[in-house]
Amino acid sequence: MDSGNDKLREELGRAKRWVVKIGSALATRQGMGLNIPAIEDWAGQMVEVKRGGREVVVVTSGSVAEGCARMGWTSRPRNLHQLQAAAAIGQMGLVRAWELAFKKYGMQAAQILLTHEDMASRERYLNSRSTLWTLLELDVFPVINENDTVATEEIRLGDNDTLAGLVSNLTDADLMIILTDQEGLMTADPRVDPAARLIHNAAIDDPQITAIAGEGGAWGRGGMRTKITAAKLAARSETSTIIAAGHRPDVLRDIAAGKQVGTLLAARGVGMAARKQWLAASLHVKGRLTIDAGAARVLREQGRSLLAVGVTTVMGSFDRGELVACFDPEGREVARGLTNYSSAEVAAIKGQPTAQFESILGFVHEPELIHRDNLVLV
Ligand code: GLU
Repeated sequence: MDSGNDKLREELGRAKRWVVKIGSALATRQGMGLNIPAIEDWAGQMVEVKRGGREVVVVTSGSVAEGCARMGWTSRPRNLHQLQAAAAIGQMGLVRAWELAFKKYGMQAAQILLTHEDMASRERYLNSRSTLWTLLELDVFPVINENDTVATEEIRLGDNDTLAGLVSNLTDADLMIILTDQEGLMTADPRVDPAARLIHNAAIDDPQITAIAGEGGAWGRGGMRTKITAAKLAARSETSTIIAAGHRPDVLRDIAAGKQVGTLLAARGVGMAARKQWLAASLHVKGRLTIDAGAARVLREQGRSLLAVGVTTVMGSFDRGELVACFDPEGREVARGLTNYSSAEVAAIKGQPTAQFESILGFVHEPELIHRDNLVLV
């Protein structure tokens, strides 16, 4: 813990895809209404970071706090349905604030409301992933919150920390930044232990980090615990996390410049193994594809996506988004992955180049049958 990690900071500062999570307290001045100047400032920094060659996804909380402020409620309701109603009211202002902030810099924003279940369902996972990737290609800033009308996970415990971790998986982000009202992760709770100091760098699988966030640890409850859990989730897609103070001037610019800001929880080397485990553990194989020798070779040797042209036979009944196993002509399993097309669709497009999909199926989901990011070699 805390050995210098300047090189990784520099790499992550330059890394392509960022997820930036802004907490309720920051976005709404501790529940006193939206902090428009701060939102404009973060948006301005994000635009700069993006112009420097990166992609930025925003995960923002604050709808409940803003909804309460709009209704003139001075304390947070206990009733979950009132909190959900507050979120529906406040989301109007929250998303408008982000929209106007990006507009100031000539950029478009897009609202995405997600639930944890959306990411557990493979079809919704793939659909939301495709939408997000398309928005990033279009140079639009996705602005994500939990869909609090239909889900309550983040209202109950997360303030969107977990959601940000899941969004990092969804987008294969290189870096997740959690902006908060504290400097970062401390060795102890500074309100009770004056010797508490900021942890600058740690590996996400460092047992001391787990202990700090554990039941009996300094942050056994509340804010930092969900942030560490989110960082562990993000690490499944090899996404490192920086926890930093949102009110620090130039916080995002400084992170982009590789400066020592907040706490870096490094996911280096944890990612791919974790992703394989995640794919393998959370999904059942629903179908079986036989692929030709050429396709087996490019999968094995070049880590490429599987295209329909390389598929010779399809067995089993599966939907888009389900896990299928791919076998070479000798019957050896080559890889497993999430298919972009159902078994009936694969039966129609197998052996065909992508250019033919439209005329055969009447639509194109994705050019690849299984994208390499969703493919694990066996
Ligand atoms: N998604 C919620 C929001 O944006 C969570 C925060 C809360 O419970 O206050 O407001």
